[in-house]
Amino acid sequence: MEFRIGTGYDIHRLVEGRKLILGGIQIPHTLGCLGHSDGDALSHAIADAILGATAMGDIGQFFPDTDENIAGISSLTILSEICSEMKKRYWRIVNIDSTVVIEKPKLAGYIPDIKKKLVRILGIPEDAIGVKAKTGEGLGPVGENKCVEVFVSVLLQR
Ligand code: MG
Repeated sequence: MEFRIGTGYDIHRLVEGRKLILGGIQIPHTLGCLGHSDGDALSHAIADAILGATAMGDIGQFFPDTDENIAGISSLTILSEICSEMKKRYWRIVNIDSTVVIEKPKLAGYIPDIKKKLVRILGIPEDAIGVKAKTGEGLGPVGENKCVEVFVSVLLQR
């Protein structure tokens, strides 16, 4: 049996006039993620972690931000596509751990819905995905509400 680990990272600027979508769930807030897609940094970081573990490249190779056909695309579509590419190579996800760093709003109340959404897309049990939220403690661009950052680890098996 083979195992692979992967790490994913993403950062998106928070701006007015955009929706805040994390893990496919829209979270009520005055600011949202700027991006070519819907700006879902959590889904992007998970996709990148899978791409890293399988040495398939990065998200930009599959979904270039210069491609007008995918402007505003749901990042769940991106994640689902990357997941099927992974499965074609006979990998399966053992577990995912993620940390979302955002100053506001508090994410705790949305995490159960985010997990439900992600397990459906990824086809894994709910106890195989950790979604943790932290603030920037007022420090740096995250602490100043300028951006959201996400860190992900994934373990794959085949
Ligand atoms: Mg991104």
